[in-house]
Amino acid sequence: MENKRIPFLDLQRVNDSFEPELSEAIGRVVRSGWYLRGEALRRFERDYAGYCGTDYCVGVGSGLDALTLIFLAYRQMGLMQEGDEVIVPANTFIATILAVERAGLKPVLCEPSSRTCNLEAEDVEELIGPRTRALLPVHLYGRVADMDGLMELARNYGLKLVEDAAQAHGAMYTHSDGTLARVGALADAAAFSFYPAKNLGALSDGGAVTTDDEELVDTVRALANYGSAEKYVHIYKGINSRLDEIQAAVLDLKLARLDEDNERRRRIAGHYLRGIDPDRVGVRIDLPAMQNHVFHIFPLFTPLRNQLQEHLHACGVATQIHYPIPPHCQQAFQFEYGSLSLPLTERLHREELSLPIFPQLTDEEVQRVIDAVNSFGAC
Ligand SMILES: *Cc1c(COP(=O)(O)O)cnc(C)c1O
Repeated sequence: MENKRIPFLDLQRVNDSFEPELSEAIGRVVRSGWYLRGEALRRFERDYAGYCGTDYCVGVGSGLDALTLIFLAYRQMGLMQEGDEVIVPANTFIATILAVERAGLKPVLCEPSSRTCNLEAEDVEELIGPRTRALLPVHLYGRVADMDGLMELARNYGLKLVEDAAQAHGAMYTHSDGTLARVGALADAAAFSFYPAKNLGALSDGGAVTTDDEELVDTVRALANYGSAEKYVHIYKGINSRLDEIQAAVLDLKLARLDEDNERRRRIAGHYLRGIDPDRVGVRIDLPAMQNHVFHIFPLFTPLRNQLQEHLHACGVATQIHYPIPPHCQQAFQFEYGSLSLPLTERLHREELSLPIFPQLTDEEVQRVIDAVNSFGAC
């Protein structure tokens, strides 16, 4: 036990913790003879909308599709034209930016706040121009962006506000007036991913759109179903993007424990924050804050990132980097952003290191991670 490696994420342990109910739920769908657009999907959509506090939820095929469909729907609704601009954080997973382009819109990259790693209203405002139509904050790592500031901007400039909530299922946000609201209900629409490793993860790809906007939800639903709201009648050139019955049943089961799992993630983060001692290590290590956070990822930032990663590996602790190459430096975007310099984003990508943080980690494993970080430089 002493020398057993600590995995970054162990999905077998995660999913074993839902047995035997998980296999029973899957078995029920298999035996039902109905695999798409059925009772399990309707139930999950109702439960997830209720959980987020929105009027509607639509299950779709992935997080990328959820984002894309929101913007395709706004275009069908006549609110956005080809080439209109959407402001996105420069330090995000590439899907955020790809979705905007897939919808025929232009992503405008904004440097994040170095403190929160998220979009801040004052940086965003400088980028708003005559063709800006929407703001797309990402609740990166599970920490909710500064939504009050962004809501005010969106209202003042007549923009749509869309959440990329792929990393923040269940996160709560405290508004400046002290009221609480949940991610998914903080903007005009939100996109979720149920990729297996997310805080609410399926056993395959999956995603969802949440919103209170009835026209948007009807348009997303039709677009995700070949542009059809009525069988064999096609009003749009849609796509095929579905959350299947097995995934919907799995997600509905896991949803019942999401708050408890997120609380365990926050407790582990609290142990890391109390236990990791940058002074003892003797190099700068910036640690995340607890507010508005569900710790999909526990990121730390240090100029000696690669050395720390090697040290932790030697101590038997697996880590990951989110993300090694920022989108504007990717070959895929060399024509759009090849000459762009975003020093803050580039620094975050050079310095970020993610520690293991999934609910099934034991306290003993958490302590071993802390001891391993604190022994950096000492050996
Ligand atoms: C995972 C993720 C997505 C994409 O989700 P998929 O289900 O993999 O398509 C989008 N944005 C962010 C921030 C993500 O982390």
